[in-house]
Amino acid sequence: MSNEMNKKVCTISYGCQMSERDAETLTAISEKNGYARTENPEQADLIIINTCCVRESAENKIIGKIGQLKKLKEKKPQLKIAVAGCMIQQPGLLEKLQKRAPHVDIWTGTFDHHQFEGLLRTADQGGKAALVSEAACETTEVVPLAEKGKLRINVNIMYGCDNYCAYCIVPYVRGRERSRPMDVILDEIRTLVKNGCRDVTLLGQNVNSYGKKDGFAYDFSDLLTEIDKIEGLYRIRFMTSHPKDFSDKLIETVARGEHICEHFHLPFQAGSNQVLAAMNRGYTRGYYLERIARILEIVPEARLTTDIIVGFPGETEEDFELTLDLVNTVPFNQAFTFMFSKRSGTAGALLQDQVPLDIKKNRLQRLMALQNSQSLSWRQKMIDNRYEILVEGPSKSDPKYLTGRTRGNEIVVFESREDLVGSLVSVTIRSANSWTLFGELSEP
Ligand code: SF4
Repeated sequence: MSNEMNKKVCTISYGCQMSERDAETLTAISEKNGYARTENPEQADLIIINTCCVRESAENKIIGKIGQLKKLKEKKPQLKIAVAGCMIQQPGLLEKLQKRAPHVDIWTGTFDHHQFEGLLRTADQGGKAALVSEAACETTEVVPLAEKGKLRINVNIMYGCDNYCAYCIVPYVRGRERSRPMDVILDEIRTLVKNGCRDVTLLGQNVNSYGKKDGFAYDFSDLLTEIDKIEGLYRIRFMTSHPKDFSDKLIETVARGEHICEHFHLPFQAGSNQVLAAMNRGYTRGYYLERIARILEIVPEARLTTDIIVGFPGETEEDFELTLDLVNTVPFNQAFTFMFSKRSGTAGALLQDQVPLDIKKNRLQRLMALQNSQSLSWRQKMIDNRYEILVEGPSKSDPKYLTGRTRGNEIVVFESREDLVGSLVSVTIRSANSWTLFGELSEP
């Protein structure tokens, strides 16, 4: 296959960080096979649609997007279209989509990345290819891993999930939990750092159970400690933590770590014990609050973020008020809020007592209004204080400003005359809205 960079790949990805990481892997494989990156689908010779099935709304959007590409393919018949990701692993969906979208050249699932090069070759030679495996019980290493010079990169430390929360489709489409060995992860991160990466996020559906099922002699805290020793890496983040497996050892490791960011993303999902039990989350409200108290005791400067679902079947107004109360109690600096959506095949989809859409929408709005005001007051408390920022690049809204992140993952926009991308600088915060901080570069 040609290694000349005369063809271009445009990747459009939906969904979580895990999905983003998959998109990066597929793009890197395309790059290795002669495709230069572009963000413009009109200029592309290969378009990869990386799908996600966690939310119904995303699924509808993706199906619409695949349909729209038909016109582009008619204008440019040599264009190759690949559809990847967990959405097409849902039973029966691939066959349905293949009939509806014959303009797609490659269909590939999340377990088949190591075969993508071959599929690409088939499409490049004018053929059609579909490889969507149902499950994987081991990890398959895929290299090359990421774009050179990229500052922030997600690194998978494990795949799949065994928790079967009643609303979640992940265990069905991403398989059973399996962890990557520590030496493989360390090698990957060292290579990424050599290529310019400074900020890694370690990804897993439940990072706190890393290595347990595979019988590793080390756990997630040990892995963090080893990654913290890698020279040239400025920041280490991780997500997602599951409250039921969240240990004191991990909190202490974060407190001790030099580069491990004091940011804990700990989804609570619902504030009522009755809803938590129906969700099969494996903890109570009291236990969750005790874990938060322990984090704040050991790491008082911790940043806390969370995920919340409203309108799970059977959720009453009283249950929902317990969710609002928990948001009022815990100083979350950000929350990702969702309306429950039925995912076929999950236990939650079969429950009788579904909450009407208008009630779900109303609860979501009330929850978002509360969290936005909490996020704003949290950010306002940062005004006039100095923070260490890793500079990421020019601001999208105004390129004369630079943008970067605090250790707590807050986005900061500030004016600078120098090219500071990739460095750590000190910025004093001057103003804030619910999502962004605005500051001035401080003298070192
Ligand atoms: S822990 Fe629950 S919500 Fe998270 S991926 Fe696993 S099943 Fe889904």
